[in-house]
Formats: sequence, C-alpha cells, structure tokens
Amino acid sequence: MVGYDYTEIQRIKKYALENKIPIMQDEGIQFLTTFIIKNQIRTILEIGTAIGYSAIMMALVHPDIKVVSVERDEKRYLEALKNIKKLNLDHRITLIFKDATELKLDDKFDLVFLDAAKSQNTHFFKSFTQNLNNNGYIITDNLGFHGYVKKDEALIESKNIRALVRKIKDYIQFLKENTSFETQFYEVGDGISVSKLL
Ligand code: SAM
Repeated sequence: MVGYDYTEIQRIKKYALENKIPIMQDEGIQFLTTFIIKNQIRTILEIGTAIGYSAIMMALVHPDIKVVSVERDEKRYLEALKNIKKLNLDHRITLIFKDATELKLDDKFDLVFLDAAKSQNTHFFKSFTQNLNNNGYIITDNLGFHGYVKKDEALIESKNIRALVRKIKDYIQFLKENTSFETQFYEVGDGISVSKLL
C-alpha cells in the first residue's frame, strides 16, 4: 500500500455516511485491494465513482496503478474531483462525468469494476468486455443487494426492490452461463463476483 493520509480517508467515509452515499463496505474494499495486489492489476476502469472512495483505495495499492472512473451525478463527481486532488492522486485517477450507458472508450484495462446502477450490470458487462486486456477481469459488487437476493421474493414488499432483485438474479445467471468468462462468487461485503476473461 502507498503511504496515505488516513485522516482524509476517514473524512471521506464520514461524508458518505452523513450524506447517504453508498460506498463499498470495508470487507469489500479489503477484498478488492487484496485482489489487485495478488493479480498485479495496474489499469482499472470503474463504473460508478460516487465520491471517489473506492477509486482512491484502489489507486493507493501501488504507485503505478491508473484508474479511470465514470459518474453521472454531477454533485458526486465534483466531490470526487475534490477528494482525489486532496490526496494528490489526480495524475493517476481520471474522472469522467457521463452516463456510463453512453460511454465508449478505446483503452484497455486489466480490471473493470462494476459498481453503478445494479439493473444495468448485464449491459455494462457486455459493453465493457471490449475494454479488457487478455485475461482481464470484471468484478461486480452488491450481488447480494443487502440480503434481498437470498430472501423469498414474496416477502419483499417493495415492487421496485423486487424488480431490481430479479435483475440481479438474471445477471448472476448470465455470469454462470457466460462461457467466455470464468466467474467465481464470493460472500464478501454485499456479495462480489470475479469474472476472468478466458
Ligand atoms: N464505487 C463507489 C465507492 O465504493 O466508493 C460507490 C459507487 S455507488 C454504489 C454507485 C454510483 O454509480 C452512484 O454514485 C451513481 O450515481 C452512479 N451511477 C449509477 N448508474 C450510473 C450510470 N449509468 N453511469 C454513471 N454512473 C452511474
């Protein structure tokens, strides 16, 4: 891990909590950063920046790591810009203010990290596969959706949540059936999958 300003990271986490901004749980971040170390990941495309917390934590793993991260919410994008600058990581983290469904990039990455609208995971997975290096990985967070995915659907009162849970289940099925990737599922944080391009 690169030496970093612990107080600043704590401040970002506090801001997220106070402003109800969903950022990765500690267990998930631990898993992600360990994965990056073990697999010597150097280039990362993140879909869903929020205020830059996970992008910062990933960049801090190694001084050669470069992150490109996309966010469609302007307020969050601007807060992320500020946070990244404060930690002097603006030369290694590039932020794009855009809806990721409209994003087309030519660059290739060792890792694509999907952490945006959960209903769009299948679309993002298909769309950003072309941005993977040989043997690259796609990691997806929140596959458990706060415990809802394992719940009996009949017990989920909210129609919107039921629809989202169904989409996540469809995405899990899509990953299991996708023969171009080998996917492993981990019960870490809110549920994470790691798909390796074969
Ligand atoms: N990765 C962040 C972290 O752990 O610090 C948390 C990201 S948060 C769970 C998801 C973010 O994705 C939200 O800020 C939301 O505005 C953004 N988002 C959702 N759908 C998006 C889309 N289609 N394009 C770009 N950003 C999107």
